[in-house]
Amino acid sequence: MNELIVGIDLGTTNSEIAIVEQGKVTLIEDENGQQIIPSFVSVAENGDILVGETAKNQYLLYPERTIKSIKRRMGEDVTVTMAGQSYTPQEISAIILRRLKAIAENYTKKPVNKAVITVPAYFSDAQRQATRDAGKIAGLEVVRIINEPTAAALTYENNQTTAKHILVYDLGGGTFDVSIVNLEQNVVEVIASHGNNHLGGDDFDQEIINHIVAHLQEKYEIDITVERQAMARITRAAEQAKLALSDKPFVLIEEEFLYEHHGKPIHLSLELERHLYEDMIVDYIDETLDAIHVALEGAHLTASDIDKILLVGGSTRTPLIINRLREEFGLQPHGEINPDLCVAAGAAIQAARIAGQDVSTVLVDITPYTFGTSALGELNGQPYMHRFIPVILKNTALPTTKTEVFYTVNDNQQAVLIDIYQGESPDALQNTLIGNFSITELSQVPEGNPIILTMALDVNGILHVSAKEKITGLNKSITIDNATSHFEQEALAEAKMRVGNLFHSSESNSDDVVSSDEEEQAIVQAKELIAKAQSTLATIESSDDKEDIINQIERLNQAIAEQDRVIIAEASEQLADILFYLDN
Ligand code: AMP
Repeated sequence: MNELIVGIDLGTTNSEIAIVEQGKVTLIEDENGQQIIPSFVSVAENGDILVGETAKNQYLLYPERTIKSIKRRMGEDVTVTMAGQSYTPQEISAIILRRLKAIAENYTKKPVNKAVITVPAYFSDAQRQATRDAGKIAGLEVVRIINEPTAAALTYENNQTTAKHILVYDLGGGTFDVSIVNLEQNVVEVIASHGNNHLGGDDFDQEIINHIVAHLQEKYEIDITVERQAMARITRAAEQAKLALSDKPFVLIEEEFLYEHHGKPIHLSLELERHLYEDMIVDYIDETLDAIHVALEGAHLTASDIDKILLVGGSTRTPLIINRLREEFGLQPHGEINPDLCVAAGAAIQAARIAGQDVSTVLVDITPYTFGTSALGELNGQPYMHRFIPVILKNTALPTTKTEVFYTVNDNQQAVLIDIYQGESPDALQNTLIGNFSITELSQVPEGNPIILTMALDVNGILHVSAKEKITGLNKSITIDNATSHFEQEALAEAKMRVGNLFHSSESNSDDVVSSDEEEQAIVQAKELIAKAQSTLATIESSDDKEDIINQIERLNQAIAEQDRVIIAEASEQLADILFYLDN
């Protein structure tokens, strides 16, 4: 029996603990099923010490009783005050470590006494020593301190023997680090590192908070910043909005009864578009790219020497970051191993190696291809009808759902044909067309009518694509089985014959040839819709609505039996409309 050594990522914003069991990494959950423990410590009203989410909840209302980001003070000869009492940074870190130790003991049902703990590559000796001391205070022997980028590289490249230069881009809540790691014969070495330990997702939240505050100031002429409760809610809402914008093109920020002004309740309702959000954060991203070049210089390398980019830290889910790195290096960055957890996983792998355990490679389900659609855009500096617009990027962990918004290009445009492609070329026609469908009877409005395209890909490679007219909710969808398997070349050639652009003009004939594949898809989709309608029936109160649904189900069932493509399409659409309106 090998001895138990845990791996710990003691982060500025969040901390995690992991072990290796039967050759595989397990990220340990707390009693509420959470693997990510906020690095907050607080004293409750009754004097209890709180750690994690409960402490984080206290922070906004009782900052004087709560400590956050203690990692920034590690190695300094200072004390911090919490609820009137002084603590050293080591003591506060030890409280977090003790909580992590208890989570692991609860899971393994064994005492946990040894740990590998990760620290940033730039940590000085004093900071590393303070981390060891924190472990000691918490009752943990720190058998090794390893660098965070080393841990990330171990998670991705465990058991790899080929020499590689890996760039680890780590953007968390409050810190940014970039490291160039050399991997050779299982030896991982950080050769250069640079960063800013006051840059991270918190800055992005703050931009959204400022935007909301300015909106309330303009709309109601109030300075909400003096209202602590309201600001606590705005802060949470801002972070939630940011997370949503990683998967969607816009988000509605809503907080009811946020504040009472002259006896009148103030509700917050503000839509934020990803484009606008990206404008708010672009300077921060540029700063991280400058830091990458400093690190590359330090390593005496250029961008073309980098073999792989690894994404670490929750903020790297921001699409703008992934896009900018891809543009800069011509490589698709890897974030498929949960970027919040991959450092703790690497610490556990190192811990297992020390304990003499074998560790297999960490496996995750990912999409091997990019999925997207085509639209009017630019290619090689020229306007181009079939510009490929990626929606789900290659290497994304599954299951995943991503949404993008597109706009009609003509006034009163009634229909849009949506082509779905799999591939990596910026020219959609060079990729594989795996399906298409059209959304018709769009509203009579000027060009720029937003159409929301959602793609959901599951672990079995089934791709569900839906398009929705934003202003009416009118929607249409298809399901593509085996989306991750390549088309036969002939089928591909045939499919390309039918290629259209996502934004055909209103005169275009969207009644293209319908293949038997599409017919099957329409039937699968219709059956799914029927199942959904049947499960919704029980929750509907109005007998009129119920009757409408039952009639449409019957009509659809009959159309399926008769394989009547036109009625299947029509009845599906009507049933989907009813369900959509009932849902909203
Ligand atoms: P870490 O310190 O690595 O745990 O990262 C925490 C930061 O990642 C926080 O600022 C989070 O708001 C941010 N974050 C987590 N998930 C996402 C996401 N899906 N998109 C953007 N930021 C995220």
